[in-house]
Amino acid sequence: MAIRNIRLDGDDVLRKECKPIEKMTGRLQMLIDDMYETMYEANGVGLAAPQVGILKRLVVIDIGEGDPLTLINPVIVQADGEQEGEEGCLSLPGLQGTVVRPNHVICKALDENMEEITVEGEGLLARAICHELDHLDGILYKDKTLDGLYSVEQPKDN
Ligand code: ZN
Repeated sequence: MAIRNIRLDGDDVLRKECKPIEKMTGRLQMLIDDMYETMYEANGVGLAAPQVGILKRLVVIDIGEGDPLTLINPVIVQADGEQEGEEGCLSLPGLQGTVVRPNHVICKALDENMEEITVEGEGLLARAICHELDHLDGILYKDKTLDGLYSVEQPKDN
C-alpha cells in the first residue's frame, strides 16, 4: 500500500466528471487500498478517487461507526430530510463551511467484489455519502456552502 498525493482545490482534476468502473482489476484493488491508507493518514472520513487524481467513480468512507464502505459507481436512489452542518474536505485543508444535506439517503453501488449493495445512511453518514459522490461529478462542498468558507481553529500547542 502507498499513500497517494491528495489533490488540492484549484487542481483541474477535481472539476472533472468521473467515468464508471467496468471491472475489478489488480490495479483497481491497489487504488482502493491506497485510498484507505491515504484517507486514514490524513484523518479523513471519506475520499473520492479524483482526490488522488483518478477519474473513476469510486469512493471510500469510514466515519468511525460500522464497517468502512467502498462504493463503486454509487448512485443515490432516495434522499429525504434535511440537515445543516459543518463540512470539510481533504482537498481544502484547514477550511470548513456550512452545508445543507439530506438527513437520510439510500445509495446503490458495487462493492469490491463488483456485487450490488444498498447502503443506507443517516446523519453524518448521509452527509459523507453526498459529499463524496459530489466529487465524482466535479462538485466541491464549497460550491454549496451557506456562507462561504472559514478557517478551522487550530488547537494550541502545549
Ligand atoms: Zn471532499
